[in-house]
Amino acid sequence: MTGRPRIAVVGSGIGGLTLAAALAESGTPCEVFEQTRAMAEIGAGVQLAPNAARHLQRLGIGAALTQHAVPIEEMHMYGRRGDLITSTPFGAACERLYGAPYYAVHRADLQGALLRLVGPEPLRLGHRLTSVAADGDEQVLTFENGSTHRADLVVGADGIHSVIREELVRDAPVFSGLGVFRGLIPVDRLPDAAREALIRMWLGPGRHLVCYPVSGGRLLSFAAIAPLAAATAESWSAQGDPAALIDAFDGWSGLVPDITRAADTVRRWALYDRPVLHTWSAGRLTVLGDAAHPMLPFMAQGANQAVEDAVELASLLAGAGTDEIPQRLRTYERARAPRAAAIQQGSRGHSETMHLPDGPRQRERDQALRHTAGITGLRERAWLYGHEAGARPSQRVATAEEREPAS
Ligand SMILES: Cc1cc2nc3c(=O)[nH]c(=O)nc-3n(C[C@H](O)[C@H](O)[C@H](O)COP(=O)(O)OP(=O)(O)OC[C@H]3O[C@@H](n4cnc5c(N)ncnc54)[C@H](O)[C@@H]3O)c2cc1C
Repeated sequence: MTGRPRIAVVGSGIGGLTLAAALAESGTPCEVFEQTRAMAEIGAGVQLAPNAARHLQRLGIGAALTQHAVPIEEMHMYGRRGDLITSTPFGAACERLYGAPYYAVHRADLQGALLRLVGPEPLRLGHRLTSVAADGDEQVLTFENGSTHRADLVVGADGIHSVIREELVRDAPVFSGLGVFRGLIPVDRLPDAAREALIRMWLGPGRHLVCYPVSGGRLLSFAAIAPLAAATAESWSAQGDPAALIDAFDGWSGLVPDITRAADTVRRWALYDRPVLHTWSAGRLTVLGDAAHPMLPFMAQGANQAVEDAVELASLLAGAGTDEIPQRLRTYERARAPRAAAIQQGSRGHSETMHLPDGPRQRERDQALRHTAGITGLRERAWLYGHEAGARPSQRVATAEEREPAS
């Protein structure tokens, strides 16, 4: 079997749809199996950093991002009493150093743009995968609706509770002890400052709140992370109690009380990740995005890493014959796993440092953050935002230093 492989992608989240778009770009068809029957408008905001935005622009959703996303000018970090700890410029500096803006986007706008790009043809809605099994060199997928499907390669882009990951490793989601309140507030219900193209973050003992405008600046998206006693349902759409959000951030300054009081509809769910994997493929099965490396949202990179995975995998599959698939999957995980592991572990580390109790370690952290104010902080993220997924050496883009040598 050396013909063109039949590729089945399970899951049409940001990772699965980016993979479908990137495969289509290289002339490789696939089918995308999604459990939901209709693509609903769920979720709140997502930060789209240049390491993913560059690829999404190239794939063809640049105009949609310009229309719906908000290019962020700066990121501000405050203490819970409203004192500015540090600020990092994004805006033009991000484009100059890393080739794309740093966007804040409503998840539904991003998913909608990807869906329009991919088109209805490859999508199989209402297909909840229940199992996958090898039959010789073929993979047989079985769905809850009773149907089956045969493929030469199965990519699990099916999120943190991935059925495909279950086939590859025996592990389980790990509860972080934290929960998140999320919501969207029309900016006209908030002080004028909420309209500014800023990511604002307030840090305090055991908790923090982050907000930014999305949907062309009409809505403010917020995520407020605080201890949660018991692990509850992990879902984008679980209802939360607005009064519990107000209580959790009682006495905080800046825009925090404006946001907590204006948030009349909140979602709340528990935050999980999973153990780091160094290999995540076997034979003709692999995973990407949260299925491979679910991460706590402290570096705002989960969706960005799903995009990088998708671009890397699509570039390795371009022109591959069916027989070459196992080898290409090994190359894919060698290219992706170390970076994803570093970001997964970094996100866990940030969950401690961002929530330090008041005291010497917190003052040291704030001092260190002050030292990275301005362009220094942006340059320090070259490893994150300057990474070029899917580039073979000859296609590599210039590094930040090559584009703009440090003075
Ligand atoms: C509070 C919070 C804030 C975040 N903020 C950011 C941020 O600012 N920036 C960022 O980059 N990331 C952020 N993330 C992470 C980001 O949302 C995820 O990493 C990203 O959505 C993962 O994409 P994915 O495509 O891998 O999985 P998902 O988006 O989970 O998509 C999985 C898809 O698979 C489908 N599916 C699942 N099981 C099956 C099955 N058995 N059969 C068929 N279909 C199935 C699902 O319905 C879904 O459509 C945040 C996460 C949280 C919790």
